[in-house]
Amino acid sequence: MKIIPLSIPTPFYVGDVNVYLIKEDPLTLIDVGPKTPEASEALYRKLGEHGVQVSDIRRIVLTHAHEDHCGLARAVRDEAKDAEILVHPWETGHLFGRLAREEHRKLLLRSGVPETVLDEMRALYRNISLLTDSLEDGDFKTLSDDTELEFENGSLRVVHTPGHTPGSCSFIREANRTLICGDCVLKRITPNPILSPDPIDPEKRFRSLAEYLVSLAKLREFRPTLAYGGHGEPVEDFEEIFNRYVRAIDERQRRVVSAVSTSGVTAFDVAQNLFPDSFDHDVHRFLAISEAVAHLDYAESEHKIAVEFREGVEFYRR
Ligand SMILES: [Zn+2]
Repeated sequence: MKIIPLSIPTPFYVGDVNVYLIKEDPLTLIDVGPKTPEASEALYRKLGEHGVQVSDIRRIVLTHAHEDHCGLARAVRDEAKDAEILVHPWETGHLFGRLAREEHRKLLLRSGVPETVLDEMRALYRNISLLTDSLEDGDFKTLSDDTELEFENGSLRVVHTPGHTPGSCSFIREANRTLICGDCVLKRITPNPILSPDPIDPEKRFRSLAEYLVSLAKLREFRPTLAYGGHGEPVEDFEEIFNRYVRAIDERQRRVVSAVSTSGVTAFDVAQNLFPDSFDHDVHRFLAISEAVAHLDYAESEHKIAVEFREGVEFYRR
């Protein structure tokens, strides 16, 4: 099976996103890049270099619905006429302007984010949402865990790997243990467990870090020899990166727990304390808050700290 990585520019700090062309029948793209003129131009040009036109694409598979990965899905689908789009059902909420949604606002308020900061963040999310076309219910088919994406010469198994987002999926070619894993495993950065509503009960918060650790262990079971991530070069030594991630998460757990006082702090306080440099940049601020919430949730589930509600805001204490 021919897996061809195409590096596509994004306006985000993370840099280019990797789109994967599976040059087999049905001609498939895994992720497509953000909806910007630069990304669109690069996608058309790079496909052309491999003798493929966008109109030839038959299937668009999304690892997750962040704008840098899914933005051009509808445009490519429209150009390719009857191409199908596949995404995990837990991901679809993101496709409708994710942080504009009331559930997200509630989660941020509960985490102690002040209204003034929320107002600033709203503008950011409006801008980010311009980098994708939203998809309506009938626009996509659903990816299910442990099913196969069939190609003329073999298949890719869908592995639901929640964590970075609730509906993140990875794809494994078992014949040679090659993995395409979106932002679940990245060579140079530890993926951020993004603050999200629970897909089953949106009033609750998705336990992103606990889920992520389970997903990481699940991928490790396949003993991947090559893991193609959503950004940067592929990972050749999965075991090394697995150990590095576990150490980094452990270390951050320790720092988060030690930032919790006996009188009580909010996730917003912890984020400011641990990542002071992130607070002059909107995206980084949101990532810092997500990281703090994910670690506090995890520490609480491990009984390292306790949580209590005061006037609708969660306070963590030792
Ligand atoms: Zn990404």
